[in-house]
Amino acid sequence: MYTVLAGGVGASRFLQGLCQFVDPANVTVISNTGDDVEMFGLHVSPDTDIVLYALAGAVNPETGWGLTGDTFAVVDQLQRFGYERWFNLGDKDLAMAIHRTRLLHDGVPMHEVTANLAKAWGLACTVLPMANEPVRTMITGPEGELAFQEYMVRLRTEVDVRSVRFAGVESAKPAPGVLDALSGADVVFLAPSNPVVSIGPILAVAGVRDALANTRATRVAISPIIAGQVVKGPAAKMMTTMGYEVSALGVAQIYDGLIDVFVIDEQDRALKPAVEALGLRCFVTDTMMTSAERKAELARDILSFLEAAK
Ligand code: GDP
Repeated sequence: MYTVLAGGVGASRFLQGLCQFVDPANVTVISNTGDDVEMFGLHVSPDTDIVLYALAGAVNPETGWGLTGDTFAVVDQLQRFGYERWFNLGDKDLAMAIHRTRLLHDGVPMHEVTANLAKAWGLACTVLPMANEPVRTMITGPEGELAFQEYMVRLRTEVDVRSVRFAGVESAKPAPGVLDALSGADVVFLAPSNPVVSIGPILAVAGVRDALANTRATRVAISPIIAGQVVKGPAAKMMTTMGYEVSALGVAQIYDGLIDVFVIDEQDRALKPAVEALGLRCFVTDTMMTSAERKAELARDILSFLEAAK
């Protein structure tokens, strides 16, 4: 069994590869819901939806989020009524948000809502939210606190991040299935996602960090940082202003005590001894998932490395 802690785009690429190579029925995704947002009265779960769309083969390959061929008539029309247009929610994407919101209003817990959506997309894998209770990633910049999507989308990450907090996490419990997926897995992957705002909220839910620390599974993280840079997104900027070293090694340090194997890119081969000095096994390979083949090869190569190391 394979369990994957997942953010959005980086995670979805890795999952597309993994599910080409292993039986998706043996894959459980634990999805970050810290960047969920209420837009136009609708509950939107950006990271979960990116993963669902990608695994369904429906994600827009140009953006890495949203649906292929989607249009934006509704958000355009909403401007007539004074709504802001900064959050791009496509028309088809809105259907998902309407359905999710209605189920939540009917009292259906988030894990059942997410299972319902995954089923509607024909997925064989299990997709779990990290928690059923709302947790909201809040960013403190120079002028105070912002909700994550305001920072990410409205302000296009052009704000120095001083700190991050996960509002509501004190009252959140791991969604049903989350702890079992960690303790019962053979391999737990920390996807190549933002360690602070994608994997961080999942680890902040009570019991998750302990379950990961104590699982009998082999725990494998893939670095989202290649040659000191991100493939996309604000992880590098965020790590800099928060005082972390912006490198694959910096990511390995953030995951200290929680992983056994760290996967770094060929371009970072020189960091291998430093990663091993942290007590980790280090696998060096091409981690840039540019094509469907490369996504599958990355998953295959990591699993072969794990098999060979047994
Ligand atoms: P977001 O929520 O959509 O920003 O997505 P994630 O948190 O899952 O992923 C963002 C991180 O994934 C960024 O730090 C990227 O550098 C990383 N990433 C995206 N694509 C790839 C890839 O092909 N290979 C690797 N190694 N990292 C990637």
